Amino acid sequence: MPNFTANTKDMQFVLQELLKISQADIPGYEEMEPDFTEAVLDAAGKVSAEVLAPLNEVGDKEGCVLENGVVRTPKGFDKAFAAMKEGGWTALDCDPEFGGQGMPYVLNCAVGEMFVSANMAFNMYQGLTHGAYSAIHTHGTEDQKATYLPKMVTCDWTGTMNLTEPHCGTDLGLMRTKAEPQDDGSYAISGTKIFISAGDHDLSENVIHLVLAKAPGGGEGTKGVSLFIVPKFLVNEDGSLGERNGVSVGKLEEKMGIHGNATCVMNYDGAKGWLLGDLHKGMRAMFTMMNEARLGVGLQGYAVAEGAYQEAVAYAKDRQQGRAVTGAEAPEKSADPIIVHPDVRRMLMDQKSFIEGARAFTFWGAHLIDRSHKASDAEAEGLISLMTPVIKGFLTDKGFETAVQAQQVFGGHGYTEDWPMSQHVRDARIAMIYEGANGIQALDLVGRKLAQDGGKHVMAFFEMVKAECKSHDGDERMKAFVEPLKAASKQLQTAGMFFMNNGMKNPNAALSGSYDFMHLMGHVCLGLMWTRMAKAALDALDGGASDTAFYEGKLTTGRYYMARQLPACAMHLARIESGADPVMELADDQF
Ligand SMILES: Cc1cc2nc3c(=O)[nH]c(=O)nc-3n(C[C@H](O)[C@H](O)[C@H](O)COP(=O)(O)OP(=O)(O)OC[C@H]3O[C@@H](n4cnc5c(N)ncnc54)[C@H](O)[C@@H]3O)c2cc1C
Repeated sequence: MPNFTANTKDMQFVLQELLKISQADIPGYEEMEPDFTEAVLDAAGKVSAEVLAPLNEVGDKEGCVLENGVVRTPKGFDKAFAAMKEGGWTALDCDPEFGGQGMPYVLNCAVGEMFVSANMAFNMYQGLTHGAYSAIHTHGTEDQKATYLPKMVTCDWTGTMNLTEPHCGTDLGLMRTKAEPQDDGSYAISGTKIFISAGDHDLSENVIHLVLAKAPGGGEGTKGVSLFIVPKFLVNEDGSLGERNGVSVGKLEEKMGIHGNATCVMNYDGAKGWLLGDLHKGMRAMFTMMNEARLGVGLQGYAVAEGAYQEAVAYAKDRQQGRAVTGAEAPEKSADPIIVHPDVRRMLMDQKSFIEGARAFTFWGAHLIDRSHKASDAEAEGLISLMTPVIKGFLTDKGFETAVQAQQVFGGHGYTEDWPMSQHVRDARIAMIYEGANGIQALDLVGRKLAQDGGKHVMAFFEMVKAECKSHDGDERMKAFVEPLKAASKQLQTAGMFFMNNGMKNPNAALSGSYDFMHLMGHVCLGLMWTRMAKAALDALDGGASDTAFYEGKLTTGRYYMARQLPACAMHLARIESGADPVMELADDQF
């Protein structure tokens, strides 16, 4: 049985003591009193542990199957999906006008984290639906919204995103799927899409595919691309389901992990589709949802790591091997539990300090999205746009590394299928690839986001870090946080200057260092989060909080991150400053 218990205490700490959401002046946050968020988190934690986690292994072992053109999900997924719908968990932050509960996105993220930790593959069915819901909500006509959204909010109808084709992944300008205008105002969509998550399954009555395709007159590359709504079953005027549309599953992909989620090849044979948003502006429509979608994948990175970490902690306390070097800690037993060994503790501290920092970073990102959407805060919008590739790229890279480290705690047992560690590692791997491979996130950060609006947002971030450090001037207890953060932020600025001085002359000099820059920035962001969390913990202790072990543990874990993880910034800067030559010098035929 899985050892998963949602870490609601830490989530509550981030929401209420770090982000102070109950005091934030954002429409929709009025009800976010500590008692309320605690009740929501506790209820979601119960569902995660009791409904979703027990199906994680089932999904992995059984996977999905394609039978006579119909995809069957693993045993028990249908009942669990019904329970999620029944509990209203699919509608938490959706618009009340369409049946949603109108709660903040940040709370939806906290709940989503638990669901992903418990069962990532399962949660993707509703995750993809949420993405499609957001696209229709933002770009749909009143008619489209009224037709699709109420059913998607409840997940009676689920959604998909169809971008990828066999010859076109990162470079969507190569797309071949076509949209031919029809007399009735619809389009006939023809082409093949691959790797489509939740492309078909038996959990919902209808599947609403959002498909990127080229309509005539749009020109070359991504400029000619438009976005279409293509339902599996056509919808009659009265909202009932009509005939089957010309879309079918070609095959199910055999893959490394997330076996419980159906990854499909989708064939569109003149399927009826309706334009979503403006003609030839499909990429723009997709991009408006990018911050949310990429934050969701970054969240997957550390949420899977959380599940793996919990297993590792339980194992390290139970498994007995060797003796503590300072003398036996469990003399009555034939050996000490492996948690006594410094190297095992190093692994656990790496995991814990990353996950808690990542949680704070992601919730902060979600809070910025709420600020930008609900309070029309342009500064928050600029900041989240800058942070999005870092959240996606850094958290999924480190999330995978963390899952591997949790597996390492198990020794050889972690490599077998007797324990869930292999699944955690296999599941975590995909988050580094989809929703834009991580190399592309780094490219987006260095090639686009740093210079966006004249570099305004990155300058605002540097100012924010500076102001944070200054606010702790003279506070000895904060020194272990402020000094490393100052140093790391300086290294990040030096790296930015290196790109400014060298990138124009030789773009390869910037792009050879883009991956390291993304990681350097990720560490600075987590350093900033740890500094803020340390202050919140000290405030709680000064205010006489009763749970001293929690707050003191926070401070100790934070000091570990600053002392043991932040020094990686120096290495990333050195790599960046080595420029393009070490990377580019070798001729192709020398590989
Ligand atoms: C399990 C799974 C689920 C998926 N779900 C969906 C889905 O629901 N919908 C959907 O549309 N797609 C989905 N995808 C597709 C996924 O988004 C793509 O695989 C991903 O975007 C990368 O595209 P690609 O595989 O064609 O790789 P390529 O684009 O061929 O890239 C290969 C490598 O080259 C690098 N690269 C490419 N171009 C550049 C460049 N200009 N500069 C630097 N490096 C570059 C990439 O970073 C990558 O490392 C899914 C994929 C998988 C495996």
